[in-house]
Amino acid sequence: MLQSQLFYKTLKEDPKDEQSINAKLLLRAAFVHKEMAGVFSYLPLGLRVLRKIENIIREEMDNIGGQEIFMSVLQPKAIWEETGRWSKMGEIMYRCQEESGKEVGLGSTHEEMITDIIRRFVNSYEDLPLYLYQIQTKFRKELRAKSGLLRGREFGMKDLYSFHSSEEDFRKFYEIIKKSYLKIIKKCGLDPIFTEASGGDFTEQYTHEFQVLAKDGEDTIIYCEKRDFSENKEISKLSVGQKCPKCGFLLKEGKSIEVGNIFPLGTRYSKDMNAYFIDKDGQRKLIIMGCYGLGLSRLIGSIVEVHNDEKGIIWPSSVAPFQVHLIHIQDKKGKVREEADKLYVNLQKENVEVLYDDRINVSVGEKLAEADLIGIPIRIIISEKTIAEKSVEIKKRSEANAKLVKIKELGKVLKL
Ligand code: ATP
Ligand code: MG
Repeated sequence: MLQSQLFYKTLKEDPKDEQSINAKLLLRAAFVHKEMAGVFSYLPLGLRVLRKIENIIREEMDNIGGQEIFMSVLQPKAIWEETGRWSKMGEIMYRCQEESGKEVGLGSTHEEMITDIIRRFVNSYEDLPLYLYQIQTKFRKELRAKSGLLRGREFGMKDLYSFHSSEEDFRKFYEIIKKSYLKIIKKCGLDPIFTEASGGDFTEQYTHEFQVLAKDGEDTIIYCEKRDFSENKEISKLSVGQKCPKCGFLLKEGKSIEVGNIFPLGTRYSKDMNAYFIDKDGQRKLIIMGCYGLGLSRLIGSIVEVHNDEKGIIWPSSVAPFQVHLIHIQDKKGKVREEADKLYVNLQKENVEVLYDDRINVSVGEKLAEADLIGIPIRIIISEKTIAEKSVEIKKRSEANAKLVKIKELGKVLKL
């Protein structure tokens, strides 16, 4: 992509009224545009990151046998009345009334809708287990929508729902999901901590959260550095400095962000909504369910909260909008431009995602400051000086030092 064509415009100053690091940086670097509190539009750079994360998630969900669906956002009141949640969800759910007087809600979550769907399709134990997921926009009336992408009123979530004929089968899948979520979050460049948490509104039992340590996180966890124990402080009977019940190490306390939450639902929804199957023994039984949420927008916000410095964002390469930021430093004869154009074409041939700063009449200082703000993992500078050495200068966004690399060895250095 030519930077001269890219739809973006950076801000030199932090936007007013933003407190969170992720909102400041994502707005300054034009990854997103803020419409109002908790409501963001994705611009080209931000959308590339979003797609990367979606693909990491899709690949993993398909690996474990998930099938992707796409449920509607507009939801009828009737299904929510079946579970008694229409009245309970009043504070969270956006609702409106149609001309006819009928009420509908915007999906804040999809347990009712998915149960409504599967009860029409699942008849027998042979139809189970079933794993259905979607990547969808959710709407919630969040009162504290002040932390950028971490807490939106309109936000992206991946929600998976599983359906089983036995508790044992459910348990097995719960373990698979645990591993799978840890893998996804690690692939996004974060270090997840599997954390026991309260049941909340959804279930009487415990639930599990995937927490990421971050100094401005809203949650607090009591955890063991060995990652064999972690509890949300809200429910924990232990505190910092006490011994880990698993390994005896001293427990720590840390601020964190909940990026995912998984729930054993049991028969909570199948019972209220009459979702049965006929088991091997001919008996009619309730379907056992689990649901598994992963915050897509919140993952982006978390990555920025964790990976940044005073100059800007430092994207992990798995989710970066581009892999390489090629910057040409103009000379009078236009020789550098010619070489840079060549390099751009060659890198593209090798399927490297390159953002090429081809702009003229922009100062070197401004180019470099923007590159740091945008945070692409590898910066390649080509100038009169480097060309004299038949080289380019390479610098990783995460490292301080740059090095000269011969152009003909670039492929090797970039591991192409
Ligand atoms: P929180 O406690 O932070 O309000 P929650 O427990 O209500 O979140 P869940 O219903 O568990 O959220 O949703 C699953 C995942 O969706 C969360 O783990 C989080 O990553 C994401 N998520 C929830 N609410 C928001 C929001 N308002 N903005 C962005 N992501 C969200
Ligand atoms: Mg939660």
